[in-house]
Amino acid sequence: MKPSRHVVKHPKPKNPVESLANTRHEFGEHGGVNMSIEASTTFTAMHPDILADMFHGDRGPDQGGCYLYGRHFNPTVYNLSRQLAALEGTESAYCTASGMAAIAGTLLQLCDAGDHIVSANTIYGGTYALLHDFLPAKAGITATLVDINDIEGVEAAITPRTRVLYAESIANPTLRVADIPALADIAHRHGLKLVIDNTFSPLILSPKQLGADIVVHSMTKFIGGASDHIAGAICADKDFILQLMDLHTGALMLLGPTMDPQVAFNLNLRIAHLPLRMAEHGRRALLFAERLRDLGLVVSYPGLPEHPDHEMMRELYCSDYGFGGILTLDMGCEELANQLMDMLQNDYRFGYMAVSLGYFDTLMSCSGSTTSSEMTEEDKAAAHISPGLVRMSIGFTGSTEQRWRQLCSALERLGVMKAGARPGPKDRRRRVS
Ligand SMILES: *Cc1c(COP(=O)(O)O)cnc(C)c1O
Repeated sequence: MKPSRHVVKHPKPKNPVESLANTRHEFGEHGGVNMSIEASTTFTAMHPDILADMFHGDRGPDQGGCYLYGRHFNPTVYNLSRQLAALEGTESAYCTASGMAAIAGTLLQLCDAGDHIVSANTIYGGTYALLHDFLPAKAGITATLVDINDIEGVEAAITPRTRVLYAESIANPTLRVADIPALADIAHRHGLKLVIDNTFSPLILSPKQLGADIVVHSMTKFIGGASDHIAGAICADKDFILQLMDLHTGALMLLGPTMDPQVAFNLNLRIAHLPLRMAEHGRRALLFAERLRDLGLVVSYPGLPEHPDHEMMRELYCSDYGFGGILTLDMGCEELANQLMDMLQNDYRFGYMAVSLGYFDTLMSCSGSTTSSEMTEEDKAAAHISPGLVRMSIGFTGSTEQRWRQLCSALERLGVMKAGARPGPKDRRRRVS
């Protein structure tokens, strides 16, 4: 893996918590500290002209506080969306029924049949299938998948029909970090929109501040934080959000991946402690990554100086939240990876064998056979997704040392680590002295 080139200067990103705290707090109908849930699917107009104006696009939530129908804007969903816009520093945002709906809606809005997308080759499996299989077959939109850290290669893949440059801020599951300022520079020189999936790094990376045009999220992960809601968001300028809701050509309005207002209410309660959770996920992931590295295991984590994008990430990130909650451990083969996860779940209660991430407990999956199984063997190899790669989304329940003992016990039993070799806070001191 060659280190990525970082040439484009950018201002140090601001911590998004301040704009989040300044986002208008909407009180409940009776003065409740929380907003009310607007469950209605249709809204009364006080005058017949108002309905006609809304159909013409002359009135809406931001023009007179007018709402039309639940698949168009909903006040509760829009309230959560304003928090997402504040989180990502975009002019506007709107939430969707899933992360895939946010991604598919965005790409279908930006591309017509015959258009082309240049995308990172290490992306979420569903996004890969959308670009590799669904969009070419169903919509005539093609994609070239490239190593996003090879900046010259990215630029070389652009054609006259390219409309979008697409990447994940931290790639799944390789944890390579996108050089967003450099990608924005390429995109804007060629008249493309840079779309960044920031699911792995809310608050940590602020793609819009670094030059991206549109930021998408799977809120199912860290933002939700409890693995109990499927949800997504599109953060962009006001014009793009209105395009998505256009009654004739809007991907959200016409494909209908609408977020339920009850879900929006629940998610809105999680935003306030997202900063605390991200910081603790990151603190524990860094500690475990350092200790696993010290044991000589093949661990990847952007917070380690050995990671190819560590220096770049230090320039791009907001240091208050660390380097993210995801690390990978390469066990060499799928069998050993499966044995490790089995023991960690069933013998030591370290975490759960499950796909997804951002849960309060640790989740573990073997990427090659699960969340990246949509990829062809060649594409997996090109993206350095080896069969023994265990992706861990490090949770924050239990004590850190208790979790570390559990992890070590399984590694010892598998013989990948000598008994008594576990580095903990005490062992480290001993080694130095
Ligand atoms: C999970 C995930 C998605 C898809 O989100 P859903 O909410 O499951 O539709 C997209 N991108 C990334 C990086 C993800 O981890």
